[in-house]
Amino acid sequence: MTQEELFKILVAHCKEYGFIFPSSEIYDGLGAVYDYGQMGVELKNNIKQYWWNAMTRLNENIVGIDSCIFMHPKIWEASGHVGAFNDPLIDNKDSKKRYRADVLIEDFLGKIEEKINKEVQKGRKKFGEGFDEAQFRATNPNVLREQAKYDQVHGRFLKAQQENDFAEYRQIIIDCNIVCPISGTCNWTEVRQFNLMFSTSIGSTSDGASTIYLRPETAQGIFVNYLNVQKTGRMKIPFGIAQIGKAFRNEIVARQFIFRMREFEQMEMQFFIKPGTELEWFKKWKENRMKWHVNLGMGAENYRFHDHEKLAHYANAATDIEFNFPFGFKELEGIHSRTNFDLGNHQKFSGKKIEYFDPEENKSYTPFVVETSIGVDRMVLAVLSHAYKEETLDNGETRVVLSIPAPLAPVKAAVLPLVKKDGLPELAQKIMDDLKYDFNCQYEEKDSIGKRYRRQDAIGTPFCITVDHDSLNDGCVTIRHRDSMEQARVKIEDLRSIIDKEVNLNNLLRNL
Ligand code: ATP
Repeated sequence: MTQEELFKILVAHCKEYGFIFPSSEIYDGLGAVYDYGQMGVELKNNIKQYWWNAMTRLNENIVGIDSCIFMHPKIWEASGHVGAFNDPLIDNKDSKKRYRADVLIEDFLGKIEEKINKEVQKGRKKFGEGFDEAQFRATNPNVLREQAKYDQVHGRFLKAQQENDFAEYRQIIIDCNIVCPISGTCNWTEVRQFNLMFSTSIGSTSDGASTIYLRPETAQGIFVNYLNVQKTGRMKIPFGIAQIGKAFRNEIVARQFIFRMREFEQMEMQFFIKPGTELEWFKKWKENRMKWHVNLGMGAENYRFHDHEKLAHYANAATDIEFNFPFGFKELEGIHSRTNFDLGNHQKFSGKKIEYFDPEENKSYTPFVVETSIGVDRMVLAVLSHAYKEETLDNGETRVVLSIPAPLAPVKAAVLPLVKKDGLPELAQKIMDDLKYDFNCQYEEKDSIGKRYRRQDAIGTPFCITVDHDSLNDGCVTIRHRDSMEQARVKIEDLRSIIDKEVNLNNLLRNL
């Protein structure tokens, strides 16, 4: 199965099992907007909890806030979003399809990289143990040819980015013969700038109404509350403010399911520091955030850093944590050293002094900021795409299982009476009533036990507990583990501690 096919199956699976639905589906949907169903919301909440607790509980100097989506419109002038939050768009004249010019070029470069990696893999297979990758890369003619092509296009692209030269974007697309995947032609329009912010109006009459924006990031809500939190919380630098909330971007190209949505959720943390210490903190937060990801057990090899070559005008260092999605390594989280750009500009635009008096230095300054910013929905996609597996069992049957890290699984345990009579449902319900205060549990009595196991595998439930006739006499039940499918007979009173050991989020947090 190709990764593309797998991705399609995953999207269908998410709908079938109540994780993610297209928004407004009975009206044929709304582009790049998705709703979370009964399973999806649990998974999403668990991810948020993991992040929130890792930030605010494990760090005594990080506190949380919840600011509003609507903010004073001047904020977006100060932040630079009104002037510069643009994407370069380009249309194919034949298919009438719209693309991001920068993404077309990045994908083209990605394909060259893939070709090079394939050559290297072939070499590794051919030469076995004695394979010297560096030498192979430096001498293999195919690799050298592709690398030269990559370097040439990459160099032009970087320069065009730095100079905001959109005519050059188009020229690169044409020179590289990058075609529209729909029409297959290279018949492109000029590149135009497109602001990604949604606007609406506030106020009851059209005269008195003024234009405001739906926030395109949650970070500005943190910056404009910096003074409030610092003063009321008596926070001392270095300290952080964390927030989880909705953000809105009118994305031009919105494919790839919940990877790129027009309404999405972010988990952002702004860390306020002394000027001059930013690169040290940037390094620390890079390590800290990578550890948070790898700690989930989805394979360290599935993450990588991608340092930005083109820095935003306010940043002096930036990196992405990329995840190996079914469509390749793509940004999951951004870590940025934003200098004092935001606080400084809010000071300018609002006319209010935004400074910190440092008692150690005995002077005031505008703090610098290192931010970590991750999309909740991209994290959901990372977890689900890594978890989805189709397995062939010893008896030849196949099963679909979501190996979601147990503390993030929507349902932790399913309680299943073997049959719907003889007092088994009553005992199962009793177990359920006892466990439900600690774990999200599901009670199921319909269909054969095999079918119920499959349904629970398909939503990623780590434990199934089966109540049978013996349970009535010996006070024991069968507990089945999702991944190994192993079954064990255990005492009912031990269930809580067996389940807790694997699903308790605190165990995950303790490893950080
Ligand atoms: P991209 O280059 O993919 O558009 P970005 O660099 O604009 O992303 P940031 O502004 O750094 O993204 O936002 C921080 C995080 O928010 C991203 O790492 C991503 O996880 C998430 N995010 C951004 N845009 C979207 C979107 N349209 N849909 C879902 N998540 C998003």
